[in-house]
Amino acid sequence: MNKLDKVQGIGIGIDLGTTYSCVGVFQNDRVEIIPNDQGNRTTPSYVAFTETERMLGDSAKFQIEKNPTNTVFDVKRLIGRKFSDVSVQQDIKYWPFKVQPGPDDKPLIVVQFKNETKQFYAEEISAMVLSKMKDIAESYLSKPVKNAVITVPAYFNNPQRQATKDAGTIAGLNVLRIINEPTAAAIAYGLDYKQQVEKNILVFDLGGGTFDVSILTLEDEVFEVKATAGDTHLGGEDFNNMLVDYCANEFQKKKGIDIRKNPRAMRRLRTQCERAKRILSSSAQASIEVDALAEYEDLNMTISRLKFEELCLSLFQQCISSIQKVLKDANMSKSQIHEIVLVGGSSRIPKVIQLVTEYFNGKEPNRSINPDEAVAYGAAIQAAILTNNGNSSTERVIVIDIIPLSLGIGTSTQVMTKFIVRGRNIPTKISQIFTTYADNQRAISIQVYEGERCFTKDNNCLGKFNLEGIPPAPRGSPQINVTFDIDENGILNLSAKNLATNIFEKITVTNQEGRFTESEIQNLIYQAEKLKADDEAIKKRLDAQNSLENYMFSIRNTLKDEKLKNQFSQEERQNFEQLIDEAFKWIQSNQNLETEFYKQKKTNLEEVFNPLMMRIYGQNEQNSSNDSSEKYSSTFQADEID
Ligand code: ADP
Ligand code: MG
Repeated sequence: MNKLDKVQGIGIGIDLGTTYSCVGVFQNDRVEIIPNDQGNRTTPSYVAFTETERMLGDSAKFQIEKNPTNTVFDVKRLIGRKFSDVSVQQDIKYWPFKVQPGPDDKPLIVVQFKNETKQFYAEEISAMVLSKMKDIAESYLSKPVKNAVITVPAYFNNPQRQATKDAGTIAGLNVLRIINEPTAAAIAYGLDYKQQVEKNILVFDLGGGTFDVSILTLEDEVFEVKATAGDTHLGGEDFNNMLVDYCANEFQKKKGIDIRKNPRAMRRLRTQCERAKRILSSSAQASIEVDALAEYEDLNMTISRLKFEELCLSLFQQCISSIQKVLKDANMSKSQIHEIVLVGGSSRIPKVIQLVTEYFNGKEPNRSINPDEAVAYGAAIQAAILTNNGNSSTERVIVIDIIPLSLGIGTSTQVMTKFIVRGRNIPTKISQIFTTYADNQRAISIQVYEGERCFTKDNNCLGKFNLEGIPPAPRGSPQINVTFDIDENGILNLSAKNLATNIFEKITVTNQEGRFTESEIQNLIYQAEKLKADDEAIKKRLDAQNSLENYMFSIRNTLKDEKLKNQFSQEERQNFEQLIDEAFKWIQSNQNLETEFYKQKKTNLEEVFNPLMMRIYGQNEQNSSNDSSEKYSSTFQADEID
């Protein structure tokens, strides 16, 4: 991509994580990680559905105890996979929300939303998380944001990458590029400048639910993922579980109550355990307190860092075994690793850092960038490179990735004939000529596979492509040139041309497993926009309702204020109090009206009460007393909320 190809407008980098997501932007010559509306720099990848509204991020995670079956998380484990996948079947057992098979064996998430049963594809839920990240960026930058680089794990295959890109599109984003998480982390550390010699980088990513360790080599500005290892079910959640188990045991010992079969108590305890775990990364001890955990008994405990480390040591050691494995797969010794990069919130745990450092004989890992922000940090740099919000330092960085898995075609012998071998730089294009095997054959069908195994049955079928409408001709004479185009995201696109007629052939994808068609995507975008509009309408309504209630409270307080007692007659006060009481009753029995009704109600009240307020506070202000002038402003502030 040269300068002229740059996309106009600002671009953000999004780390779409299994448990937490993070967004960054390159501006003012540096990367800024953007805090959300709660002030947090990472946002839970959670979406919740209730009787009245949809919640995203912190608010969704916060209410999980109350609403476990309609709170969706972990969709990164579903995206681009089939319902019948072994891993999906395993995960489903542990999720409180329901997943069922949909068309083409695509998983569908089933929730109750506004008293209706709703089904969502993983792409749609991820799109909701992405649109939350987009909103976070937009409110920080005070302008609309379209362009984004989104990261995926290095081992994500073609359907998983495609589905993540689709999720971005559904969220209303222009997905500039899908890049590998370890590559993004390496970019964040500036390990991307032109090197004289080849550099080997080990990226150790211990997050919320997964542990990924990758070895990248960097040579001539090309990042190549040499090997990946890890554990798809090892991370912060498991450390939380260890703490929860320990606390549940202690609680049983002390109070004789077993909370294991009490899901609500377990979830409340888990929230406190996660909090304590984070504190233990910087303090030697932390307290875990849950009021009325079960049978009105409180849980009060103190846990030391040493105890926590003892509980989790075997899990931490599994990470080290994975490092050994990735080194072996990459055919490298630990002394050949030039840089170690720590990524993922759980790599903040001091014991983890210590074990990694010891394993590399005292070589200190890079950790000047917050590990849970490093991926978004690198993605933001990549986004700046592809748009025009970079500067001279990002100009220098050119990142080229490689294709993660070989592509090939199935033949009659069920052997996979590779036409693009893994490790090739992307983007790349390759053409292959196809012909007919029977006279007057009108269509050719090709099956494309992804993977490294010898037989097609062991690889991942990306789909069946049909070349149709071939003019009748003797066998072997039509020459159909099919171009397999792997774009910068590692995603395959196909086109075909009949060399005899020079006409582009229609390629229909009959069975490109799980991939949405253009019109399906358009429909999903429409649905997503509708949901967003609903959210906004609800927010407006709640704001109007709040503004009305605040106004009513301020009036009521004024009427009750002893100091203002002699400002109105007994009769006046009674009338006003009656009016306000009625207004409170009205709002109690009218909780779900259109926004306009609340606004109108407030206007009506204002017509009655504003003259009174002016009279009281206007006079009072003249009569001195700081106290009441403060009151005046607070009364009218409440009024101005909407
Ligand atoms: P993901 O795996 O979704 O990419 P992150 O890399 O942000 O997410 O990791 C999230 C995990 O990191 C959570 O389990 C969280 O509890 C954990 N975590 C975050 N901060 C700390 C900390 N200071 N100490 C220990 N664990 C932490
Ligand atoms: Mg992550």
